[in-house]
Amino acid sequence: MTYLFSVDIEGISGVVSAKQGSMDSKEYDRARELMTKEADAAAEGAFEAGEEKVYMTDGHGKMRNIIIEDLDERVELFSGRPKILSQMEGLTEDDIEAVGYVGYHSSAHSRGTLSHTYYGSVVDDLKIGGRSVSEFAMNSYLAAKYDVPVFFLAGDTEIIREAKELYPDIPHVVTKTPTGRYSAKCRHPKVVRKEIKETVKKAIKKKKSKVIHPENSTFHVRFKDEGKLDNCELLPSIERTGPKEFIVDTGDIETNYKVFRACTMLATTVSQS
Ligand SMILES: [Zn+2]
Repeated sequence: MTYLFSVDIEGISGVVSAKQGSMDSKEYDRARELMTKEADAAAEGAFEAGEEKVYMTDGHGKMRNIIIEDLDERVELFSGRPKILSQMEGLTEDDIEAVGYVGYHSSAHSRGTLSHTYYGSVVDDLKIGGRSVSEFAMNSYLAAKYDVPVFFLAGDTEIIREAKELYPDIPHVVTKTPTGRYSAKCRHPKVVRKEIKETVKKAIKKKKSKVIHPENSTFHVRFKDEGKLDNCELLPSIERTGPKEFIVDTGDIETNYKVFRACTMLATTVSQS
């Protein structure tokens, strides 16, 4: 059986500023090392539980953050972009038993460290089936389409709180407690890694995982800037419902997920010059 880990950077212990996740920053190398080690701890937990295969998806920015040579050599990594399923690339491979998340952060409607939903400078809120979602929830709803359950989450206290609204018993590890948008009380990375390894191992052995579907698959999206929506109207699959709002309602969660992401890309093509 294969376990898939989706890995982001903003929820990693020690990461508190967007600069740290940006390739042109002097702090980036350190942040990607922290990210790689937390992700590797999750993979080790799966191998110690007796699993033979672990897939990992790099889910932040340009998606070339994880340092592959520093991972356990049994891991296979989906690196780079574009990837058709983005943070969930690998989901449709054969034999995926469950998905876990490392380095996840809270949504745009939360007051967490570096909170945002998918594309921070563009998306103000995303609702699926009537409820505001985090990237964790959005990706888990997509996994549900393929009957792939969620079994683990590591991130800050705010994303854990949000996730528990959907999965009250989700095996989890807290990496840090937000004290502001660009600050947090961080747990020591070595302690966090040990806990991640143990929690993943236990969750796999106990087979604690769950599939949750949204009430319905409709995406209600609000952008931060109304101009950014103007090119999205080129897509027949969206309905603009306000200056900053639109709906994606194709009847299929995966198509909605892709159209929503296409809209976030089209948003960046609008400029006044
Ligand atoms: Zn993210």
